[in-house]
Amino acid sequence: MAAPALKHWRTTLERVEKFVSPRYFTDCNLRGRLFGDSYPLAGLSRFLTPERLPYQEAVQQDFSPTQVGDSFGPTWWTCWFRVELIIPEAWVGREVHLCWESDGEGLVWRDGEPVQGLTKEGEKTSYVLTDKLGEGDPRSLTLYVEVACNGLLGAGKGSMIAAPDPEKMFHLSRAELAVFHRDVHKLLVDLELLLDIAKGLGDDNQRSFQALYTANQMVNVCDPAQPDTYPVAAALASKFFGQRGGESQHTIHAIGHCHIDTAWLWPFKETVRKCARSWVTAVKLMEQNAEFIFACSQAQQLEWVKSHYPGLRSRLQEFACRGQFVPVGGTWVEMDGNLPSGEAMVRQFLQGQNFFLQEFGKMCTEFWLPDTFGYSAQLPQIMRGCGITRFLTQKLSWNLVNSFPHHTFFWEGLDGSRVLVHFPPGDSYGMQGNVEEVLKTVTNNRDKGRTNHSAFLFGFGDGGGGPTQTMLDRLKRLGNTDGLPRVQLSSPEQLFMALERDSGQLCTWVGELFLELHNGTYTTHAQLKKGNRECEQILHDVELLSSLALARSAQFLYPAAQLQHLWRLLLLNQFHDVVTGSCIQQVAEDAMSHYKDIRSHGSALLGAAAAALCAGEPGPEALLIVNTSGGAHSLGMTRGGSTDAQASFPALVTVPSVGYAPAPTPTSLRPLLPQQPVFVVQETDGSVTLDNGIIRVKLDPTGRLISLVLVASGREAIAEGALGNQFVLFDDVPLYWDAWDVMDYHLETRKPVLGQAGTLAVGTEGGLRGSVWFLLQISPNSRLSQEVVLDVGCPYVCFHTEVHWHEAHKFLKVEFPARVRSTQATYEIQFGHLQRPTHSNTSWDWARFEVWAHRWIDLSECGFGLALLNNCKYGASVRDNVLSLSLLRAPKAPDATADMGRHEFTYALMPHKGSFQEAGVIQAAYNLNFPLLALSTPGPAPATAWSAFSLSSPAVVLETIKQAEKSSQNRTLVLRLYEAHGSHVDCWLHISLPVQEAFLCNLLEERDPAGHLALQDNRLKVTFSPFQVRSLLLVLQPPPN
Ligand SMILES: [Zn+2]
Repeated sequence: MAAPALKHWRTTLERVEKFVSPRYFTDCNLRGRLFGDSYPLAGLSRFLTPERLPYQEAVQQDFSPTQVGDSFGPTWWTCWFRVELIIPEAWVGREVHLCWESDGEGLVWRDGEPVQGLTKEGEKTSYVLTDKLGEGDPRSLTLYVEVACNGLLGAGKGSMIAAPDPEKMFHLSRAELAVFHRDVHKLLVDLELLLDIAKGLGDDNQRSFQALYTANQMVNVCDPAQPDTYPVAAALASKFFGQRGGESQHTIHAIGHCHIDTAWLWPFKETVRKCARSWVTAVKLMEQNAEFIFACSQAQQLEWVKSHYPGLRSRLQEFACRGQFVPVGGTWVEMDGNLPSGEAMVRQFLQGQNFFLQEFGKMCTEFWLPDTFGYSAQLPQIMRGCGITRFLTQKLSWNLVNSFPHHTFFWEGLDGSRVLVHFPPGDSYGMQGNVEEVLKTVTNNRDKGRTNHSAFLFGFGDGGGGPTQTMLDRLKRLGNTDGLPRVQLSSPEQLFMALERDSGQLCTWVGELFLELHNGTYTTHAQLKKGNRECEQILHDVELLSSLALARSAQFLYPAAQLQHLWRLLLLNQFHDVVTGSCIQQVAEDAMSHYKDIRSHGSALLGAAAAALCAGEPGPEALLIVNTSGGAHSLGMTRGGSTDAQASFPALVTVPSVGYAPAPTPTSLRPLLPQQPVFVVQETDGSVTLDNGIIRVKLDPTGRLISLVLVASGREAIAEGALGNQFVLFDDVPLYWDAWDVMDYHLETRKPVLGQAGTLAVGTEGGLRGSVWFLLQISPNSRLSQEVVLDVGCPYVCFHTEVHWHEAHKFLKVEFPARVRSTQATYEIQFGHLQRPTHSNTSWDWARFEVWAHRWIDLSECGFGLALLNNCKYGASVRDNVLSLSLLRAPKAPDATADMGRHEFTYALMPHKGSFQEAGVIQAAYNLNFPLLALSTPGPAPATAWSAFSLSSPAVVLETIKQAEKSSQNRTLVLRLYEAHGSHVDCWLHISLPVQEAFLCNLLEERDPAGHLALQDNRLKVTFSPFQVRSLLLVLQPPPN
């Protein structure tokens, strides 16, 4: 082999670059020879439609002639092309492609079946008509190309995440037949790899020069115009790539993947087609590359393909049997890792795993969530309860402040459950199969010397697309080459088995995986958050009441199918770009309509269950007051039912846990009143004091909290000289990701919103309830009104808030400076709670300036604390002694209308003695979120109160009561309980239902073989460790005849 005459790195390198360049010297370089002769189409016509039509319907429409260069659109429309072609006879023996370059996302249909995706952005611009045209092969053919008028990443106006441009037009720039030179393609792949190796290893590396000189010599011997010179060049490359690496080489597991956001910069309906385009392309690659393995997540997407593309679904099942198509993840969608409730997370797996089992004969063994905005500390326990011990993600590489210290590690959750976690060290789930990425995977790995295996997920992602043949060609060529890591086409199973084999040296990370970015997603699109919380509650209540009705009524049919449908809608909305608010307006509207369905169907199902529950009971009133909360007895006011006028009077009623009581009549109220009534006193300066004997609330004339006293101890909860219920406005301009990010510097722009004295007015004058209200002008465009309510016997004061919000890049919060000192604040998460610092000692502390929580946060010192509860918020923070709840944002991309308009939400403040556990903060937050239901019944309501279940320990929460999934168990209930205090506890569950047998089971409702529970006197004992979630199967006795 002749070495270059001059030792000049740059000229040698660039010489080779020009030889393969698609831009320069294509008249004489190798790239210019990739395609040979071309030939025009025999006919091209099109049909434009705003609908997303099924194939059979589309092809029957009127097509009109069109030609290359024509435009079509606008955005979200579909252009169907009829492509008639005749391959020239002279091309016998050649590989023939349909070359197709257009904007938008194309799908080729042949003989009524989708066969391949075509997207310029996804580097898929030709469809292989034949590998080698045979003598007798048919040469005339009609295809259809369905082109969606949107890009892989939507249709943002001016930038990717800008709101879509509805006027965008699309162009067809190439449509013809051409002969493809496979030998040229192979040489190009080799030369590009050699160039990348030379560049990647750098000019101080022996192997790098070997690569460069090999490439240089290939250029010397290869005459692009003389195909008979190609084999000599190819032999040079083969010699280089045939030089093997040593035994200690790192192994890269290259797994084909295609991350498809279930909705994001495009609507849900487009995702259905994205799945078809991406997966049919993957199927084609699997056919042509027997060693290619493709990992595919999200049951919902597979379910869409099942119903819209049955032919493709069969192919997927076929390749799943061969082990090439590998369903992963186990969840219904790749959900947000922060906001869904614990029960909703369980349902992601329950719905997902059952679907995978039904469709592919087995459940997934790894949780797969490459792209979400943080990971709850309860996920390890939920995964393990759902048959999963492995987890793959990579998003933590986006941390803005701290670089996460591991790529392969054990993750220990809140309860001590451990799973093996792998972050692909290349920090991407959309690799292209380049040498640079392969080298980065090795150098970037934070667990060198601890593990010698890494994942490498390749294929266009986010908007779909997936792998290409060229990516596969590159990765296969790299196989085992000296100087580079070993690259093998692999499966998630092989990867994790390899990681498990040498997991002895791995580190452990305890607690949540907090993403130091995208912290605005806890607040953006407040209506989506509110819908999420409400619908989680509605489904909880429907399942609970339906279960009680099932146990008590022989006639009642548990609405299993409807509930599955409604749950799936809720789970769909919990996708990581939907409930987070990081989607376009169209997606938010679709999501709101899903919530609307859940609300309306849920309310009908509640009514049906209540009616069944009451059938046959004697009683004076046709109104039932139901407590769906499973903790201690709930004492409160019936909240006005929106549809039932009867339910709108405030009344004091005590309803036992998971049970009901007859509605009190207004006349019977006074004798029933055991507590001190609420007193409301307005001073001459306009300030008001509300007092229910438990807490005393004093508001200044503008509605701010001057004082909050725990009456029994006289203890003040508001910091001296400070004011609570202070609304504050911040400038909220992130660096780029508008809907996603709130940056640390927003805190520097804090402006308190000041009201006008004299606006505070007394609403309800006391007795059962005392309330005051006020108006607050937030800005020239936005205003707020608030009703501050104190109920008899209630340990917290409620703030019912209505905001008319018309802002741009502002952030509204409300603050409560507490007379409490603690370095840690507590935040509720799924099935438990955790602490985060209130200070900024380290970069890990201050990076958590905006965090997420569920129904409550608490700041406590020894013996006293202040809790802030909410009914639909998720963003919060506690800095020093100030508790802050994030209320509304106003980002403009990708949805320019996000959060504009009217909002309603409630938060509540609860000062308490002792710890929050002892004080019952958790139960109070349940009561706020699950107000007593007033349900009308067609017949008479029961005359006496009744409780289905109660618990002996306040540390244990009865979260869920539902029918078991399996139809063979239709008289079996599932109960889910968790330990909420962080303690070891033995708890007795009292049952008033006709239960025959009880067993422990896992989260997938599979019976624990050793989990038989002894029933004694209608109660059974369950033991818990801190934050443990336990599920029980209760087999009901046969219904009475
Ligand atoms: Zn995503």
